[in-house]
Amino acid sequence: AKTILTVKDLQVQFPTGDGIVNAVSGVSYEVKLGQTLAIVGESGSGKSVSSMAVMGLHDPKRSLISGSIELDGTELVGAEPSVFRNVRSKKVAMIFQDPQSAMHPFKRVGDQIAEAYRIHNKVSKKVAGARAVEMLDRVGIPNPQRRAKQYPHEFSGGMRQRAMIALGLVNDPQLLIADEPTTALDVTVQAQILDLLNDLQREFGSAIIMITHDLAVVAEVSDYVMVMYAGRSVEYGTAQEILATPRHPYTWGLLSSVPSLSTDVGSELKPVRGNPPSLLNLPTGCSFHPRCDYMSRVPGDRCVNELPEFLPVAGEPGRLSRCHLADPAGIFAAEIEPNL
Ligand code: SF4
Ligand code: MG
Repeated sequence: AKTILTVKDLQVQFPTGDGIVNAVSGVSYEVKLGQTLAIVGESGSGKSVSSMAVMGLHDPKRSLISGSIELDGTELVGAEPSVFRNVRSKKVAMIFQDPQSAMHPFKRVGDQIAEAYRIHNKVSKKVAGARAVEMLDRVGIPNPQRRAKQYPHEFSGGMRQRAMIALGLVNDPQLLIADEPTTALDVTVQAQILDLLNDLQREFGSAIIMITHDLAVVAEVSDYVMVMYAGRSVEYGTAQEILATPRHPYTWGLLSSVPSLSTDVGSELKPVRGNPPSLLNLPTGCSFHPRCDYMSRVPGDRCVNELPEFLPVAGEPGRLSRCHLADPAGIFAAEIEPNL
């Protein structure tokens, strides 16, 4: 499949009166058409900030962004607002946790979708209105003709999330970024929305980045998983690999309380003991070391002094881990039994 998004060494910093907030400190990944990449981590891990950079949602006056974000051949780091206007909705769209705040409260749902369509298509209001109704139908909203004339507050939470997805997909984007799209919904509706996203992905062939802290979401929809911690990627692999045989102490912590991944819809990643570090003042060496129970397995003071690189895990092609235990020369996996 074609690679639609390539992120290389992305850094996002926010200068503040107290110093520089290092929100994302060198993240690299790619996403191909038809694939879903889940980005997981605690709040403050950089998972949303890195995706917002893809959408051009950071104020250039308040943020320093470097590295490269290539969306279907277009470089977005340092791009003019007009470039973002051009790719937004048409090439990349984002859906949020709370569609209530993402949709305009005083505009009819159908009109909002039609307006988004007309930004990229020179068509009459009537044609755009028909497109809106068609989209509402495609995301499984009954009576789409009537629903199009209603306001967001007249929709239930699940129906509003469907309408948000219709809005996101109206220009047939190649990449859909979904930021905790089911968090606000009850478990049954969550499952329906995830099914819908899977179906739509099959139909449209788009790539999806799923930002989530919910393991059910990871297990249900993702092909690949990137785990983030303190603005860096710490582990990468297929969803199956990460859930079955995590290869980073932080992921071991996140997964350790989950009884059954396949059946336990709604189970969340477990909070790891301690707190995430301040992004103003990251720990030396491995950012995770103040919370890591496995430091003593690494000879010397490497965990405290040396930032681990993001390296292939020995004997497991395609998998990456940022831990001194995962060094090809290290003692990873073979001798270590995580407390799962
Ligand atoms: Fe823990 Fe050291 Fe690995 Fe960091 S590098 S996760 S502190 S063992
Ligand atoms: Mg999928």
